[in-house]
Amino acid sequence: MQLELSTEDEAFREEMRTFFTTQVPAEIRETVIAGRELGRDGYVETQRTLNAAGLAVPHWPVEWGGRDWSDLRRHLWLEEMQAAGVPAPLPFNVSMIGPVLAQFASQEMKERFLPATANLDIWWSQGFSEPDAGSDLAGLRTSAVRDGDDWIVNGQKTWTTLGQYGDWIFTLVRTDPEAKKQAGISMLLIDMTTPGLEVRPIQLIDGGHEVNEVWFTDVRVPGENLVGEVNQGWTMAKFLLGNERVGVAPVGTVKRNLARAKRLAGNQLNDPLLRARVAELENELLALELTALRVAAHSAGGEPHPASSVLKLKGTELQQAVSELVLDLAGPAAYSSGAGAGSDLPEWTHLAAPAYLNLRKASIYGGSNEIQRQIIARTILGL
Ligand SMILES: Cc1cc2nc3c(=O)[nH]c(=O)nc-3n(C[C@H](O)[C@H](O)[C@H](O)COP(=O)(O)OP(=O)(O)OC[C@H]3O[C@@H](n4cnc5c(N)ncnc54)[C@H](O)[C@@H]3O)c2cc1C
Repeated sequence: MQLELSTEDEAFREEMRTFFTTQVPAEIRETVIAGRELGRDGYVETQRTLNAAGLAVPHWPVEWGGRDWSDLRRHLWLEEMQAAGVPAPLPFNVSMIGPVLAQFASQEMKERFLPATANLDIWWSQGFSEPDAGSDLAGLRTSAVRDGDDWIVNGQKTWTTLGQYGDWIFTLVRTDPEAKKQAGISMLLIDMTTPGLEVRPIQLIDGGHEVNEVWFTDVRVPGENLVGEVNQGWTMAKFLLGNERVGVAPVGTVKRNLARAKRLAGNQLNDPLLRARVAELENELLALELTALRVAAHSAGGEPHPASSVLKLKGTELQQAVSELVLDLAGPAAYSSGAGAGSDLPEWTHLAAPAYLNLRKASIYGGSNEIQRQIIARTILGL
């Protein structure tokens, strides 16, 4: 099946491709494509390059740097970015807190935070999940209690991605313990250098440092850092989580990784069983791409189409399946994950196992796949 774009959209795709492959340093893109760790500076440099060209926050309101593109163009922008190995603008900034502030914050708060958020002058962390509040997010217990004009925050957040780089954290806190659980939650913005706030690393199975615990002990937060109204946090959380799910299916990345896997396979592609496995993945990827276009074409008024749950579910499954393919292609060489620069084995074989292990996370974050299945059952299948 051939996906036909209009001449204008094709030209737009070409413009994006040219920008991403010529304006973002090759060294950064090669790091992403090889699956090596990209430090804070790589993300910051890329996002500032994109922002200067008006390409960091195209889905924000125009007044704050948005481009008023069609959903299809946003899709092409993202796909070309991923295909070129350009690290996507930090999701905590551009897909999560930015749109929330643009929609719900006071004018003063927008002016204070939105330009800095778009340019990654502030690195945001997401402080939603707690040890007993993940899928059941409304069960969160971190408390914020009024003290004069300020809030005093106590509690613990967990799985805070890249919190070690965070300047500020947007949090959901319990401001009314007596109310029904969704009704007693507020959103607070907290400077991560405030006394009493501590970031503790979580050690991962792939050996990396990607997630953290964040502890709050009598952290004093100015009253003006409350987003919107007190006890209205759940409305903002739902708005944010819908956007998070849409952004989580990396069609362009999976395409790039599958094409790369075919190159890495070399002679192994003569094996008919392997060829069949690759062909099946390519077909599923095409179906995913069509679903992504369908979601892009049918999302309205900022509300994601329910098929975005299909996108999250299938997108992450495919992402994991491709990482498994690369692991199998590496064969026994995949055991070399601890090997240093002196190893005779190619670098990709060292990275195959950590990447495979790391990507187990994809079916959990952004709303676990079991939860997505429930949404699909309810809202699409009407079960
Ligand atoms: C790598 C990674 C990064 C993350 N980054 C962040 C971050 O930066 N900030 C942040 O706030 N959070 C973050 N999270 C947290 C993430 O949103 C939660 O892990 C997720 O919502 C699941 O919650 P949980 O871990 O408490 O699991 P639980 O909710 O305890 O679920 C455990 C298992 O039970 C299943 N389950 C739960 N409820 C149901 C149900 N009703 N029906 C069927 N099955 C169910 C789940 O699908 C899962 O398989 C991250 C998570 C991971 C893994």
